[in-house]
Amino acid sequence: MSKGNIGVTSDNIFPVIKKFLYSDHEIFLRELISNAVDATSKLKTLSSVGEVKGDLGDTRVRVTIDKKKKTLTVSDHGIGMTAEEVDKFINQIAFSGAEEFLNQYKDKAEAIIGHFGLGFYSSFMVSKKVEIFSQSYKEDAKAVHWSCEGTPEYTMEETIKAERGTDIVLHIDDEFSQYLEDATIEGLLKKYCKFLPVEIAFGKKKEWKEGKEVELDEENIINDINPAWTRKPSELKDEDYDKFYHELYPMQMDEPLFHIHLNVDYPFNLTGILYFPKIKSNLDVHRNKIQLYCNQVYVTDEVENIVPEYLTLLHGVIDSPDIPLNVSRSYLQSDNNVKKISGYITKKVADKLAELYKADKDEFAKKWDDIKMFIQFGMLTDEKFYEKATGFALYKNLDGKYSTLDEYMDSVREKQVDKDGNMVLLYTNDPDAHYTFIERAKAKGYDVLLQDGELDVHVMSQAEQKHEKLRFVRVDSDTIENLIKKEETAKDTYSDEQKEGLRKAFEGLLPSDADKLRYYVTCEAAAADALPVFLTQNEFMRRMKEMSAHQQGMSFYGQMPDSYNIVVNTNHPIIQELIGKETSEEVQEEVEKDGKKETVVKTVYSLANEDERLKQLIDIALLASGQLKGEALAKFVNRSVELL
Ligand code: ADP
Repeated sequence: MSKGNIGVTSDNIFPVIKKFLYSDHEIFLRELISNAVDATSKLKTLSSVGEVKGDLGDTRVRVTIDKKKKTLTVSDHGIGMTAEEVDKFINQIAFSGAEEFLNQYKDKAEAIIGHFGLGFYSSFMVSKKVEIFSQSYKEDAKAVHWSCEGTPEYTMEETIKAERGTDIVLHIDDEFSQYLEDATIEGLLKKYCKFLPVEIAFGKKKEWKEGKEVELDEENIINDINPAWTRKPSELKDEDYDKFYHELYPMQMDEPLFHIHLNVDYPFNLTGILYFPKIKSNLDVHRNKIQLYCNQVYVTDEVENIVPEYLTLLHGVIDSPDIPLNVSRSYLQSDNNVKKISGYITKKVADKLAELYKADKDEFAKKWDDIKMFIQFGMLTDEKFYEKATGFALYKNLDGKYSTLDEYMDSVREKQVDKDGNMVLLYTNDPDAHYTFIERAKAKGYDVLLQDGELDVHVMSQAEQKHEKLRFVRVDSDTIENLIKKEETAKDTYSDEQKEGLRKAFEGLLPSDADKLRYYVTCEAAAADALPVFLTQNEFMRRMKEMSAHQQGMSFYGQMPDSYNIVVNTNHPIIQELIGKETSEEVQEEVEKDGKKETVVKTVYSLANEDERLKQLIDIALLASGQLKGEALAKFVNRSVELL
């Protein structure tokens, strides 16, 4: 037997392992199984090139629990280690520069947690003693037994081991007894090892028979060794992709909308499958996340810095040995490889979407409502994606017809360009509420888009920034004549004075809940068959308010009261009948100014004896816009009955 000290001046290594890494201690199992799988894969490689002769026999990795001895064992039939190798790989702690690292970060637990894969040594996080029994594949190699109790001292001796490979035996610390529970271990294996390339066995398969769970002879294999993303796209059918989707997310009932198979080997290595899920509500957006693997070992589902943010809404797997997995998040963000990976994924997703649109526009359009949120989010947050997405981002009109912005602009160019050469696109977010406006627009031969998505306002603003002469206006934001101004706009023959009198008369009768709502009266020569009085809402102000709900730094707009224009239509016969009838009256009013009471003279306009009719007209306008409620509505109804 030999004794020695582990090759770092490391009275401090074990406390560090135990203390600082404890928040993530379950990863010890992932590390040990990865080593076992590596050793097995290496053996298979050696065998395939003829370095190892004969049949390899059983190559399963097994995990076993001995409750009496309080041990957890990971066994493989891989290449094994000779005594010299144990000395080199285990005794001289494999990570380089550990000593400086520890000195540098002594006081910063945060910096150490997750900073590096401690590999084999992570087993000391949960064990009071760890033993290695190993028999190398090499001819004439003697088996070796290594043992260490979490101090810098270890023992090493020759032993007898019947089979090639390595057993790692953990004597689990009392405070970590959960790692001696079958359910805990099975859970961890399913989490980290579900797609490892070598079979992992844990216990026996179980089956329900006559209300009892019985053990079968067959071993319980945890993993699928050939997950879909490691196979060639040409070998896979749509059903296979769907099946794999459910393997990844057993609780997900819906089929994905479509998938993208990623596969690069230059300038970095990356494979994976991304799925566009069917999202029913905002709630399940982040329920299933993209999983990140490193050579089929599960690493994390926190992919925020690796995949562009808008793509984190997708589901699926990404596997890359090139992503530095054991480093901190801030390091990841600045890593060039990671940036390239993220750029690549963006490009690949955009290309696939473009291809799908080109191949079958109708089929793509059918899925549009479900995928639109991802695409719009991407367009708004990633310039490169925006450029590509203009080729397949769709707009839907009220007839349910979908087209790209360019296609759509071409289709309305003839009618919807105003006298200044601006292309004006009309939209509604609520066809029922805007019914009369929509009818008027249609009567003019204009088309109306349905823009009721959460990100639509932002996307329209973005499109306006990119196209100089493009404006989106909601159909109710002005009279249709003003929305798309043509040379021959309707005119009336009244003088400004007459109109001002009428305006003031209406103004005197407005509802007054000025905190929340503000009304402005304007006189416009709208169409004779439009309503005598109607409401519009300024596009700019309304949109600023809507955007302020999602964006920081815009709360100024958010706090403004909603404001509406009450448009008095001077081309309508009823208004024409009223115009010129107004009278003005000078009234004295007491106001307080600098603490003193003062009397001022105000001119009050009114339409003698017509107040009830004006109120009725205002109420009709409010009613048509769904704004007449409560007491005001009751008054309106009563007044209507009286008028009848
Ligand atoms: P890493 O796996 O990151 O290199 P580890 O500390 O986990 O670091 O392991 C150090 C080395 O010990 C491995 O690179 C490998 O050469 C050897 N090793 C560990 N476990 C096994 C095993 N089960 N079979 C054969 N060799 C092993």
